[in-house]
Amino acid sequence: MKDDQLLRYSRQIMLPQVDIVGQQAFLDSHVVIVGVGGLGSPAAMYLAAAGVGSLTLVDDDVVELSNLQRQLAHAESDLGKSKAESAAATLRGINSEVEVQAVNRRVGAAELGQLVSSADVVLDATDNFDTRFAINRACLAAGVPLVSGAAIRLEGQVAVFDSRLSTSPCYECLYKGGEGGDLTCADNGVLAPVVGIVGAMQALEALKLIAGFGEPLIGRLLLLDASTLQWREMKLPRDPNCAACGTIEVSPA
Ligand SMILES: [Zn+2]
Repeated sequence: MKDDQLLRYSRQIMLPQVDIVGQQAFLDSHVVIVGVGGLGSPAAMYLAAAGVGSLTLVDDDVVELSNLQRQLAHAESDLGKSKAESAAATLRGINSEVEVQAVNRRVGAAELGQLVSSADVVLDATDNFDTRFAINRACLAAGVPLVSGAAIRLEGQVAVFDSRLSTSPCYECLYKGGEGGDLTCADNGVLAPVVGIVGAMQALEALKLIAGFGEPLIGRLLLLDASTLQWREMKLPRDPNCAACGTIEVSPA
């Protein structure tokens, strides 16, 4: 690590849980973030600032006026631009040492699988079940941990799925066939800081997984009620009959 990097990341390096070894792990890591809206913006900005060496941003949307209330990686001058490109420019401004790849198109299962297989951690920051299931299956196939976040109205949730552990559930163990349909901010609304809280927690979990400290939220679903600021935690068991992970052979840990 160069002198300016030691200074830049000094507040993390001084944490015994991170130290030089953990910071080097951040610098050497690759995180794929699917969706750079309300959740993906703060998650990507924190990961870039913290020194994650390589970030891939996947989003086929363009920046709209109604996004600016909560999607902090985009500015008024980005209206009409690709979200992936807009967020990539923001990240390069925060930390020019980070390698940022913007994928500004809809990716199919094969391309998603390719992107995910080169990642150390994947962040699901999307808002629809079809994409969430596709990301989950790609992560299962590649054996890459998935940090899932969701926020709507005054509610947020975070969970980590890590198929490298035989006890870990997957996203589909939790949501099966996506009963109830998509809950989107466009239909239900969301208060701006709620997405920031959840997105920042996704970045936190990603850094813990990369540096290998603490207890990631594997097999646990954390639920936030922002109106009372109460958190609830639910245990998430693995579903042996899960259509996505139930048939996957997992070697004993
Ligand atoms: Zn499953």
